[in-house]
Amino acid sequence: MKLLEERILEEGVVKEGNILKVDAFLNHQMDVKLFREMGKEWKRLFADAGVNKILTIEASGIGIACVAAEEFGCRVVFAKKTQGKNLDGELLTTQITSFTKGRVFDVIVEKKFLNPGDRVLIIDDFLANGCALEGLIDLVQQSGAEVVGCGIAIEKGFQVGGQKIRDRGIRLESLAIVDSMEGGTITFRS
Ligand code: 5GP
Repeated sequence: MKLLEERILEEGVVKEGNILKVDAFLNHQMDVKLFREMGKEWKRLFADAGVNKILTIEASGIGIACVAAEEFGCRVVFAKKTQGKNLDGELLTTQITSFTKGRVFDVIVEKKFLNPGDRVLIIDDFLANGCALEGLIDLVQQSGAEVVGCGIAIEKGFQVGGQKIRDRGIRLESLAIVDSMEGGTITFRS
């Protein structure tokens, strides 16, 4: 998606450890107008998928997932990284290793929010080694619902996540795929 690629080139900052900072428009300050264009693009890409629910993970996935949900006319569930005190229902749980924080989180969703028959689109901001997506896919599969696809804002194509998910036969659409960030220069897959 040209618009997102241009924004990454304008405002993205390459940090040590293969981290791309996009805090100016995606992860901290949020450009909702850009999110709206991203939502429209996911809607175009998954128009035939019969999506009736979007699943994401706190925190950075929530904004983009909400805007996408407006396009699909469905609700959003976000997986929580810790068990809060006001969760009283039955829980689906999995573990995710955070790429950026280097630690393992227990991740939960209340069972009543994902059900057999649901056609779930998973949305997240980044795809690196695929751990977050694999955890979210696991939660959907535990619930008996179906993963109809994964929509990612920025895939780092030089890490293994994209390949792992596509090799499982899961439909994955990334709006920008970064092929290299070597020497601080960002190049995209065309
Ligand atoms: P994965 O589980 O695929 O290794 O990493 C995906 C998660 O790590 C995303 O949910 C995102 O929050 C975070 N992440 C991975 N790489 C980056 C990056 O380069 N920049 C930022 N801002 N977050 C990243």
